[in-house]
Amino acid sequence: MRFRLPLLAALVTTTIVTAAQPPAQGPPTQVPTESDANSGLRFSFVDVEGGAATLIVTPAGESILIDSGNPGDRDAGRIAEAARQMGLTQIDHYITTHWHSDHVGGIGPLSKLIPVRATYGHRLPEPLPEDINADLVAAWKAVSATPTFLVAGDSISLRGKRGTPTPKLRVLAANGLVDGEKDGAPTVFKCEKGHQAQPEDTTDNARSLVLHLNYGDFDLLAGGDLTWNIEHKLVCPRRIVSNVDVYLVNHHGGDTSNNPLLVEALAPEVAIVNNGPRKGGEPRTMAHLITLLRDVGVFQLHRNVRPGAVNSETGRIANVDEACKAQLIRLRVEPSSGRFVVSIPSRSVDRDFSAK
Ligand SMILES: [Zn+2]
Repeated sequence: MRFRLPLLAALVTTTIVTAAQPPAQGPPTQVPTESDANSGLRFSFVDVEGGAATLIVTPAGESILIDSGNPGDRDAGRIAEAARQMGLTQIDHYITTHWHSDHVGGIGPLSKLIPVRATYGHRLPEPLPEDINADLVAAWKAVSATPTFLVAGDSISLRGKRGTPTPKLRVLAANGLVDGEKDGAPTVFKCEKGHQAQPEDTTDNARSLVLHLNYGDFDLLAGGDLTWNIEHKLVCPRRIVSNVDVYLVNHHGGDTSNNPLLVEALAPEVAIVNNGPRKGGEPRTMAHLITLLRDVGVFQLHRNVRPGAVNSETGRIANVDEACKAQLIRLRVEPSSGRFVVSIPSRSVDRDFSAK
């Protein structure tokens, strides 16, 4: 695998957002202003204390939220505030990677704070297994009368903008199947040296949506809480994934996920770990990421405070103290320069990387 050296010179980047137009029916409603026009593709990785919530705004002003944190008002409030800071007046596309409470839990209260339009998730198992909370699923269903159940191979259509690439959002895996597989496909293939299968994961983690977002030369992978054996199917027997620039680390950096064969196939330049102070960011995964990317490329939402934890260097950690102020990580892909910038605004950290 290859490594790319980040440009060490910090690039101070300030994204100026101004109030968008009032919401209308149907996406997209945010009209990019002059100041947005050169803002490229923007991300906020919201601290939801070991859950997941990633906000994305495209150059055309379309917004995507992947996962909504934990139940209750805390995470919904944090996501709504991040949306406000990005200049959003609604969420155009809300995608739940899977049905666990730390991913779908915030959608009910969030939809009371900001309008949420189209909703997406993977096919619901019937009957609902014990690890899926029916009330949370009902709250998700209540947001949209016509939710979309995604399968591997699907795409979510995003609007283009003249003078800049059109983002493409594809589903590489869903329901435990990778693109090209049919129902009943095995979960384990003995096709590559070095792969040690783990016992079958019967939880909803294994059914997580795996999303690939492309924007020009930039690629990001977000796989929810996908676990080991299905991760392996992304690289073997067919290679479903390509190299990416940014890997939103599966399962909060847990060691039952992050199969090294997947991580090495992705060969990311930057990894974002949405861990909590005592959840995720587990030692084997963190050590592997830091070895591959060096700690310049490993960003964490939280310092892991557990004994024996392996952390990236402090300058790459948004929330160092366990009792935190929910600082977020931002990422912005420049529209034409082939660069992207990862920022921790609360620490005045801006790191400039080159998209491949
Ligand atoms: Zn999770």
